[in-house]
Amino acid sequence: MEKKILDYLTLDLDTCTTDELYNEVLSMTKEMSKIKKEVTGERTVYYMSAEFLIGKLLSNNLMNLGIYDELESILVKHGRSITELEDYEPEPSLGNGGLGRLAACFLDSIATLGIKGEGLGLLYHFGLFKQVFQNNQQTEHKDAWLDRPSWAMPTDFKTTFKIGDVDVVSRMYKIDVLGYNEYKIPLNLFDLESVDEKLVSDGIRFDQEKLESNLTLFLYPDDSNEKGLRLRFAQQFFMVKSGLAWILENHKNHLEDLDKHAVIQINDTHPAMAIVLLYQALLKHGITNDKALKIVENTFAYTNHTILAEALEKWPIHYFESVDHSLVPLLHELNEKAKSRSNDSKTLIIDEQGLVHMAALSIHFSHSTNGVAALHTDILKNTELKHFYDLYPDKFNNKTNGITFRRWLQFSNPELTKYIESLIGSEFKENAMELEKLSQFAEDNTVQKEIENIKYMNKKRLAEFLKREQSIEINVDSVFDIQIKRLHEYKRQQMNLLYAIDMVEEIRSGKIPSRPLTMFFGSKAAPAYTLAKDIIHALLVLSKIIDNDPIVSPHLKIVFVENYNVTKAEYLIPACDISEQISLASKEASGTGNMKFMLNGALTLGTLDGANVEISELVGSENIYIFGESSETVIAHYEHEDYVSKVYYEDNVRIKRACDFLVTEEMLALGNQTNLDRLYQELLNKDWFMTLLDLEDYINTKNRMLEDYEDREAWNTKVIHNIAKAGFFSSDRTIAQYNEEIWNIK
Ligand SMILES: *Cc1c(COP(=O)(O)O)cnc(C)c1O
Repeated sequence: MEKKILDYLTLDLDTCTTDELYNEVLSMTKEMSKIKKEVTGERTVYYMSAEFLIGKLLSNNLMNLGIYDELESILVKHGRSITELEDYEPEPSLGNGGLGRLAACFLDSIATLGIKGEGLGLLYHFGLFKQVFQNNQQTEHKDAWLDRPSWAMPTDFKTTFKIGDVDVVSRMYKIDVLGYNEYKIPLNLFDLESVDEKLVSDGIRFDQEKLESNLTLFLYPDDSNEKGLRLRFAQQFFMVKSGLAWILENHKNHLEDLDKHAVIQINDTHPAMAIVLLYQALLKHGITNDKALKIVENTFAYTNHTILAEALEKWPIHYFESVDHSLVPLLHELNEKAKSRSNDSKTLIIDEQGLVHMAALSIHFSHSTNGVAALHTDILKNTELKHFYDLYPDKFNNKTNGITFRRWLQFSNPELTKYIESLIGSEFKENAMELEKLSQFAEDNTVQKEIENIKYMNKKRLAEFLKREQSIEINVDSVFDIQIKRLHEYKRQQMNLLYAIDMVEEIRSGKIPSRPLTMFFGSKAAPAYTLAKDIIHALLVLSKIIDNDPIVSPHLKIVFVENYNVTKAEYLIPACDISEQISLASKEASGTGNMKFMLNGALTLGTLDGANVEISELVGSENIYIFGESSETVIAHYEHEDYVSKVYYEDNVRIKRACDFLVTEEMLALGNQTNLDRLYQELLNKDWFMTLLDLEDYINTKNRMLEDYEDREAWNTKVIHNIAKAGFFSSDRTIAQYNEEIWNIK
């Protein structure tokens, strides 16, 4: 028989420190994970990604091993708890936002569905960065998550290669990803053996030129200058060179038909360099050019995540030259090949300025290009990547994103999970579409009441958490309105800010809302993204103004959750009433936060963008709050360059009042003039993401939503319909589609 929990725990559970207990439970869990089987088979999918935002693993793994409850009851007898360990566990800092969280959900589903696959990426020592607010500004600090024992275990797999004239040694680390059933898959992360943490002195600054010491220090190091860009490029090279070495080692006897044995899904273009590197490796092996290229094309598949022009990667060809000069003739060869297939200059890999278009490389030399939501894929086909779609109609396909319900329902909202189980049985845990059965209870008063109680309890849990973390006092009887996601102008946190200002003004003019509102934000801004930081600053200043105003504060509060990450999301999402998904239509590829909220019984306030479109179709217009201009209208505005924000400012007194507030004496007394002026000028004179275009409709729709909240029965009916229709967004569905239509494993 297997060893039991108590055979592993040798400490005195009454007296040991949290650190000792954590280490022992971690070792035990790693050891017990050995009972999970690795998937076997002829063909493997390699999911290559610069980010894996996996979140804490302890509770997740204990649950997947089926020992959570047993361990908890042992610990409780000694006055301890899993929560103590959970709070102590550092969250792996290996991702940035939706793209990285998607990769994590996908690994969970690949393991659960028993598909032979693995993740390939980098082990960043200090991750993205830790956000700390000082003087109402974001400051960045290293996130030293590896200081405590982690889930990453060193392996014997090492490779040595050159980056330019720098010799580097790369070692592979492995994190087991446990599926819900009997399988596990590896997440393999590469680290630079000679990495030097001491290179980072204060904040997140370090010598960007010392590649042999810095390559795996940070995810997305500041690339606002040439040195930073070169470092980021070298980092990508290090990742794909290491990952490919591992893949080639695994299939060294099958290089001639590698495409039968391996499929490499690249998560956006960060790993796209692997295409040239595989071509290079196959040629070196003596395979002819034509055949090698076929193998490359059949092996790679590409996921596009963005249509924001500034986010489409283009690297100067001399960067390739500086890491490995033999790549340059290969790139030219691939470019000639692309030219032979199309004479449309928009599909060139290398442009006249000598920039290598990584998306072009990825589309020409992979067999699949997918968007991540129906609308996004349509926009790729008809607008952004039209020239490629005309050339390769069969390569394009859609894979609407999904989320793992293990983490985003079962783990983060155990009470709701249990209650759903009592209503419709436990089948939904295996097959998420079973949630549909909840629809029959939508009008049932008892069910509505219970779901409302669970929401209330989750609000209390969030309030207690934020009290511990940030000493914030929250009114749990208020409406919880939440916008948590990376800070970007296209996501339009600034529009939500203007809503808050409008509400302050309305309350001051005597219009008291029927119920208090708490507006939550959680968001990191890229360290060099000035305007994003200005928006954070304005929100932090406004929240102080509100707190200090005895007229406004009983009715409105802004809570900015510091250092937003997966752990915080797990507290915030189950407590939410209003899910803010307010990107400028056409700009959010999919969103996955929107799916998590819906599943946890929040109603969406959103534009018809990304997966909001599919949510809206599933739940029906009576169960969602849609506002704003359509993607067609927005795309036309960009085409005709006819959007003028000033017009909206001048035509609407409330819009004008909200914008002007940003630079009032009251704001400037607490805030910084440079930040606030810049944001104000941006909104009036540029407003690239058309905040003012949708502001009026947004304010009216949100106010209507708050009125509707007062009809608790009608609201809860909508809530139940939302949960019932969320099954489509299980990442098990997404991964099954990837496998059927792109990977063909088993
Ligand atoms: C889900 C998730 C995201 C993505 O949120 P969007 O609203 O889709 O941008 C980002 N960060 C974390 C921590 C998440 O859990």
